[in-house]
Amino acid sequence: MKVLVLGAGQLARMMALAGAPLNISISAYDVNNDAIVHPLTQQNLGKGLANAIADADVVTAEFEHIPLPVLAQCQQSGKFFPGETAIKAGGDRRLEKQLLDSAGVRSASYHIINNEADFTAAISKLGLPLVFKSALAGYDGKGQWRLKQAEQAAALWQDISAFLAADSKQAIVAEQFIPFQREVSLIGARNSKGEVQVYPLTENHHVNGVLSVSLAVAGNEQLQQQAQQMFTAVANQLNYVGVLAIEFFDVNGELLVNEIAPRVHNSGHWTQQGADVCQFEQHLRAVCGLPLGSTALLRPSLMVNILGEDTVPEQILALPGLHLHWYGKSKRAGRKMGHINLSATDNAQLKQRFEQLIALLPEAAFPELAQMAARLN
Ligand code: ATP
Ligand code: MG
Repeated sequence: MKVLVLGAGQLARMMALAGAPLNISISAYDVNNDAIVHPLTQQNLGKGLANAIADADVVTAEFEHIPLPVLAQCQQSGKFFPGETAIKAGGDRRLEKQLLDSAGVRSASYHIINNEADFTAAISKLGLPLVFKSALAGYDGKGQWRLKQAEQAAALWQDISAFLAADSKQAIVAEQFIPFQREVSLIGARNSKGEVQVYPLTENHHVNGVLSVSLAVAGNEQLQQQAQQMFTAVANQLNYVGVLAIEFFDVNGELLVNEIAPRVHNSGHWTQQGADVCQFEQHLRAVCGLPLGSTALLRPSLMVNILGEDTVPEQILALPGLHLHWYGKSKRAGRKMGHINLSATDNAQLKQRFEQLIALLPEAAFPELAQMAARLN
């Protein structure tokens, strides 16, 4: 099977690594350079998008911020999964909110802002505090503003109106600030027969708005059921085929959707070593029409993101249950450069190994890990 992935980053790379044993070969579309490249070497394969689509058995995506004409062109081919509607919903918070409403799943109350009257209406309708998010092109907490006190509203409107004026396609989605206890995500797959397989929930810890640690959480049946029910409602609403990720706020055991990602997800990287079939293989199975694999947790697992660093101490590789994954990217401050997966036979051992890992990592590059380890039991 030949699969063309829209996007040529680490997610396409890890799909290629997972697909190789199944004889699934991946080429990747580098959207910024309008080039078809090898997902591991980034070598330009010297063909255009139209040819690459024609050559592929299946077209899929590794991110959602893709030009609309490209999405339309892929959709036309009849081999694009999860397809145009799902990718658009992941890339435009207005469409995403509509989707969540029509699927009947809870999310933060919101109001869409295109002008000053909308801004004023959002504040009076939703109350404070509020989170304002750009409708398009948001990721890693970028394109967001917070409003806590009414006195700051005028100054914030100056910022937001300038932002809107700079791009006529943009809008702002204002959301109630949710006082959550923690953030969790559910990664799962749906195939063309409508079968759904989800992984155990993942607890996610962000530092400065960027994911730092994801921990697989098995054993909370009530929360797992709730997440699975909401996942299935969204996936069915989209007639979704592929891996889908949903981020939730956990508010005293009640889940609210934060956002969806119509693709494999950073918070699912632990599945490479912690689950029977990892999210990358599962996605390829779903879009290629192969049977879905088992999503069972094999052993307690967590993942640590490597942000802005292109080396880590070599000694970490001596820790049992540790796997290092580099993405082959050049170093830039804050950039997702790789990740570390850590697994163990039980939770106590995972905590112990995590503490050993933390002792070896430079704290400046890996802040707040000790606080996260303290939460493990
Ligand atoms: P990412 O790419 O990391 O998923 P993003 O740019 O798509 O980020 P969101 O996930 O919407 O943005 O928001 C980033 C973070 O901001 C969330 O993980 C959460 O910690 C916080 N946040 C977002 N919306 C709210 C809200 N309504 N109430 C409270 N906190 C929020
Ligand atoms: Mg998010």
